[in-house]
Amino acid sequence: MPGYVFPEGRVYSWYPGVVRPRSRGRLWLRSADPMEQPLVDPAYLREQDDLDALVEGIQITREIGRQAALAEWNAEEIAPGPDVRTRAELDAYARASLNTYYHPVGTARMGTDPLAVVDPRLRVYGVTGLRVADASIFPEIPSANTHVAAVMVGERAADFIAADS
Ligand SMILES: Cc1cc2nc3c(=O)[nH]c(=O)nc-3n(C[C@H](O)[C@H](O)[C@H](O)COP(=O)(O)OP(=O)(O)OC[C@H]3O[C@@H](n4cnc5c(N)ncnc54)[C@H](O)[C@@H]3O)c2cc1C
Repeated sequence: MPGYVFPEGRVYSWYPGVVRPRSRGRLWLRSADPMEQPLVDPAYLREQDDLDALVEGIQITREIGRQAALAEWNAEEIAPGPDVRTRAELDAYARASLNTYYHPVGTARMGTDPLAVVDPRLRVYGVTGLRVADASIFPEIPSANTHVAAVMVGERAADFIAADS
């Protein structure tokens, strides 16, 4: 909830998230200068399915919050709050409060198809002696956190380099 100030006292929160989004972002170069920052468009919620999933997640968390087991902690709903009821209001809230898990991956995707950037041994197609070993090579977005998978890519890269040299 960007900009939201929690009231004094004890609160609890949970966040629904779209961990397998259908929307696909884009990263491209501004120029041939490798020191220039690339342009990034994460394209959050571009696909209707992602908005539907997020709104459903909000509704599910609300439902959980209404359960008897949580009744003694359920003084009031702070966010989205009682004014957010209709589907249009939920859509607007989902878009306005959107945040990221910081898991961008796949900008130099591994694969064997024409759009893949690296092969299954992490070698960049068309460039001799260059490998990529980070989260950019993930062929798909994992639904879990990305750190461990990125470490695993590094471990595999070390194996490939040792085996190929
Ligand atoms: C705020 C935040 C919270 C996160 N929380 C979690 C979490 O709780 N759990 C989890 O699993 N994942 C988490 N992630 C995701 C995880 O950190 C990343 O997926 C992972 O670090 C990706 O690893 P990487 O090696 O691809 O890139 P990075 O870890 O970003 O490593 C890239 C490295 O390249 C260096 N670099 C960049 N440009 C140059 C250059 N020109 N020359 C030399 N070096 C350069 C950078 O300094 C950096 O050290 C989080 C990410 C963020 C941003």
